[in-house]
Amino acid sequence: MFEEISLIPAFKDNYIWLLRRGRAAFVVDPGDAAPVEARLAADGLQLAGILITHHHADHQGGVAALVEAHACPVHAPAEESITGRSHPLRGGERLDVLGVPVEVLAVPGHTLGHLAYLAPGALFCGDTLFGAGCGRLFEGTPAQMQDSLARIAALPETTQIYCAHEYTQMNLPFAAAVEPGNPAIAARARRVAALRQAGQATVPLTLAEEKATNPFLRWTQAAVIGAALAHGAADDSPAAVFGALRAWRNTF
Ligand code: ZN
Ligand code: FE
Repeated sequence: MFEEISLIPAFKDNYIWLLRRGRAAFVVDPGDAAPVEARLAADGLQLAGILITHHHADHQGGVAALVEAHACPVHAPAEESITGRSHPLRGGERLDVLGVPVEVLAVPGHTLGHLAYLAPGALFCGDTLFGAGCGRLFEGTPAQMQDSLARIAALPETTQIYCAHEYTQMNLPFAAAVEPGNPAIAARARRVAALRQAGQATVPLTLAEEKATNPFLRWTQAAVIGAALAHGAADDSPAAVFGALRAWRNTF
């Protein structure tokens, strides 16, 4: 496994993940090159490659400058417009990232070509799953996103989820509105508030905690189904429940 997985903050609330083994590093979703260069210089690291989850500028905006400076490979969705992409991916591939086996998962929904990268025990999921929330459906359908999230939910519960934004605290009031009677959500809100107060990240997430508190993974729970039906879900199918919650969240 990697010797270190650490975050590089970017913009207002993005996280660029840095994977290190020895003096070599990969970065995931470098939306900005400057903070990556600063970190490489500070830690004396060589940039060995880049993983991209999807085409939005806050995830790939730094690629051109990093490739120019480091001539490193760029693994990225084949079906999206990605600057400097050297290795197009569609999901199902297996990569060697600094000697660590990484599986590529297709997780359409936020965008149609969206990928997630699964290292042993660690998932880099871009804007698919967030703390207590999920990405907006800019390109995909509710059914596509629900299927993507279901495949993430089926990973081992100890899986650490490295998403690309610090949104957990912002998302928890909606989770509480969906399930006012879920004590795990209230307990998480207190823990998250303390972390943020101390200036700390709430990411990585653990899959077990998301499954207990994230309404977008809880489409089989009676309270969640009831809330979705009260907010326009046509039936109690996972895709309909998920779709109604996602639409409600957009106006919450
Ligand atoms: Zn995005
Ligand atoms: Fe983003």
